[in-house]
Amino acid sequence: MSLEKKLFNAGVVGAGGAGFPTHIKAKCKVEFVLVNGAECEPLIHKDYELMVNFAPEVLSGVKLMAEQTSAKKVFFGIKTKNSSAIDSIKNNIDSSKIEICSLGDFYPAGDEYELVYAATKRLIPPRGLPLDVGCVVNNVETFFNIANAVNDKPVTHKFVSVAGCVKKHSSFFVPIGTSFKELLEFAGGTSLQEYGIFVSGILMGRLTFDLSETVTKTTSGIISLPIDHYLVKRMHRQNNEMNRIGKSACDQCSYCTEFCPRYLLGYDVQPHKVMRSLAFTKTGEDVWNKYADLCCACGLCSLYSCPEDLYPREACNQGKEYLRKAGQKYEQQKPVKVHPIKDGRRVPLKQLMKKFDILKYETKTPLVNNFPEPSNVKILLKQHVGNLAKSIVKVGDKVQVGDLIADIESNKLGAKIHASISGTISHVSDEFINITK
Ligand code: SF4
Ligand code: SF4
Repeated sequence: MSLEKKLFNAGVVGAGGAGFPTHIKAKCKVEFVLVNGAECEPLIHKDYELMVNFAPEVLSGVKLMAEQTSAKKVFFGIKTKNSSAIDSIKNNIDSSKIEICSLGDFYPAGDEYELVYAATKRLIPPRGLPLDVGCVVNNVETFFNIANAVNDKPVTHKFVSVAGCVKKHSSFFVPIGTSFKELLEFAGGTSLQEYGIFVSGILMGRLTFDLSETVTKTTSGIISLPIDHYLVKRMHRQNNEMNRIGKSACDQCSYCTEFCPRYLLGYDVQPHKVMRSLAFTKTGEDVWNKYADLCCACGLCSLYSCPEDLYPREACNQGKEYLRKAGQKYEQQKPVKVHPIKDGRRVPLKQLMKKFDILKYETKTPLVNNFPEPSNVKILLKQHVGNLAKSIVKVGDKVQVGDLIADIESNKLGAKIHASISGTISHVSDEFINITK
């Protein structure tokens, strides 16, 4: 059976981002395969643990993808500071095709556009894909899952880090559908009465207070922070409040644009102009929102660059939504050209953590085994880019780990979903399936 078919059958999707189905990437022919081991979100270190502890498995997936796509070279992106991960990968490389691409400790070193440029000096066209410049990029955990898929092992578990205000910072495999409550408990719990949880990162993740939410194929980890922490209070604001503050306080200094990593790479993203949409309300939307279209929502402008603590990222998100609803797309006319000051404006991760007042939580999240199997899992049917998977089970059915429980038509974009524990189907809806042990 082809690798593409095996990946489709195993439900492999990008484990480090939005969950793009990996079998689609396996159809392509490219020059370069890029392994994204940059892991640039603060406090989460699960990819580091994977590289240190599972290098042969990760590299096996890398080689399979390189063969499948006929790539002539593989660049393995790892931060120089992660020397143990570099050593572990280097010690297991047995192909001259694979080369380490050392990355600085900057945010967002793991952005696809940044990584492709760092490894190949190629610039993805505006609104384009790595494929447009002969590259396929996957996160290290995706390669780990590719190696499993070849052995007919579907994606049933997720590797996550638990960090922030917990007693045992750690990384471990959990069945997909495990609740955040169980993750926190396994990490020794928290001494806090009230806290917020950042899911999959502080900058590009989201904030929740709901411990019954569950792990999906794209959850990198959870970070708990006190409810009165600056970041929790800030991220908890509603759009209308952010907009009201933005309207009155933005002085158009343009720092948000000057530090924007996409702008510095040469893309026409200008958040300070998007902020004018707020100031000029109805008359501004058509004029200024186009400068949001190529924003990757990295969050640097809102959380780091703006001296007024405003919300240009959120304004860009609204701007993109406005364009989408209006059926408009911004076509960048000028050529993509890296800004000459780009290297001088990179943002060190340590600097970010200082600003966020989270340096005190920074520590390794070592691999821990034996996460106890939950008695119930809630498995979402949309954990990936594309169409919702459709349940093929009904309440009362008995399933074993790895059984297919939700399917996707082979001609549609999406991913199959498998049982993550053995047990009985206890709930089926359009949104999720519960399995009870
Ligand atoms: S950095 Fe802040 S104040 Fe300056 S233009 Fe951007 S949003 Fe406005
Ligand atoms: S979130 Fe802000 S800094 Fe990041 S790409 Fe968008 S506009 Fe640029």
